[in-house]
Parts: sequence; structure tokens; C-alpha cells
Amino acid sequence: MTDNALRYSLNDAFRRYNLRTGLSFEGAKAALFDMDGIIFDSMPGHARAWMQMCREEGIPADEDEFFMYEGRTGASTINILYRRHYGREATPEEIERLYHRKTVLFKAMPEVNLIPGAREALKACADAGITPVLVTGSGQGSLLERLSVEFPAAFPPGRRITGRDVARGKPHPEPYLKGIAAAGDDIRPSACIAIDNAPLGVKSAAASGAFTIGVRTGPIPRGMLAEYGADIEIDSMLQCTKIISWLL
Ligand code: MG
Repeated sequence: MTDNALRYSLNDAFRRYNLRTGLSFEGAKAALFDMDGIIFDSMPGHARAWMQMCREEGIPADEDEFFMYEGRTGASTINILYRRHYGREATPEEIERLYHRKTVLFKAMPEVNLIPGAREALKACADAGITPVLVTGSGQGSLLERLSVEFPAAFPPGRRITGRDVARGKPHPEPYLKGIAAAGDDIRPSACIAIDNAPLGVKSAAASGAFTIGVRTGPIPRGMLAEYGADIEIDSMLQCTKIISWLL
């Protein structure tokens, strides 16, 4: 997409946002960043770790289904598998055991790369005086620790909402609403952009009232993020960086 086409889509998206929410976008004061598939190219590793956990437990599963569950908490994904295979929810002990096993399997995988453009997007926020906040369904300690190493200034502890901080994960709006609250006392949804790569993630973001940018960094069909509520659907974090720089 050319810069002009992207600018045109963005203006169009702001008009649709104002109609959709009844709010008027007031310029970005905060940017809510999802982690997996937005900052780290970690989704293929997560899908493989879930698959291996399922094989060990004798629970049939398909690797692609984990891309559709992305954004859910670990507990919620385990309950989907349990309801389908055992016809019941998992107990808290089962959830703890299986999620622990999945995180161990993920941690043993080769180190994940950053998503191209993620570092630039955070730099663009810093340049524009936009406060970044992390809003992830993940509770993966290894990635959260790495975030502290790669981006120590961007995501201090008070500006991180993880899977362990919410009662209801994405697609419920709670994670993004908590992210907006963490951005600052005086920050309203109409002063926030939310950046997510998963259908359930953009659904959560759109319901929070933030201007929602869906980024297709994985095997999600074109148009699906818009269908789930993204105000604009783009193909890369490099395009996202351009959008952030234009919000100045
Ligand atoms: Mg994601």
C-alpha cells in the first residue's frame, strides 16, 4: 500500500470510528500494544507448544486452531480443549498444571524474533509523546522478562496488563479497559489507539472504545480483523509505525 493510500484509509477509519463509537477521536495520548504477533513473532511457537501439550495429554487438536484462540487467557484455551474432549471445564489444578506445562514447552523453543517494525513503532510513540501500555492475554514469564530487557522504558510494571491481571480475557473488553486505565487518570478511550493481530484481540480492543488497528502478521485471512471490529486493517508493524508518526 502506498503512503497516500494508507493515509486515505486512515482518514476513512477515523470517520468510521466516530460513527461506530459515537465518540470523536481526540488524537492519541496512549497506545495499547498487544504482545504476541505485535511485538514478538511468538505465535508459531505458542501454537507448537499447545500442540505438544495436547499430544502429551492425549487431547486431539489442530495447530491452526491456536491462532484463532490467540488473545484468550491460558485458562480459557484449556477450557475449550476440555469441554470438547471431556465435556466439562478443567479444574483449577488441571489449568495450573497444563498451563505450566505449556509455558515450559514454549520456553524450550528457539528464541523468538521481534516483529519487524515493532521497535520502530515504540520509538515513534516515544517521539510523539504517546504513552505505550502492554495489553496481553499471555502470562508467559519468559517473554514478559524479555520485554523488560528489550524495552525497559516503554513498559514499566504499572503499564502492563497480562493474562494474570484480568478476570475475563479477550475478547471481553476488560483487558483493554484496564490498559486504558493504566495509561493515566485523565485518559479517555477516544484518546487511545489499540494495536492487535488476533480476531479476539481486536474484538476486545474495539469494545473498549479505543481506535483499533488490526495488523495481519499471521495466517489470519484478509478482512477478518475488520470483521471483528478493527477500524483499520493493515499488513505490518512498519505501516503501523507510519500511522503513529502521522498522529503527531
Ligand atoms: Mg497477539
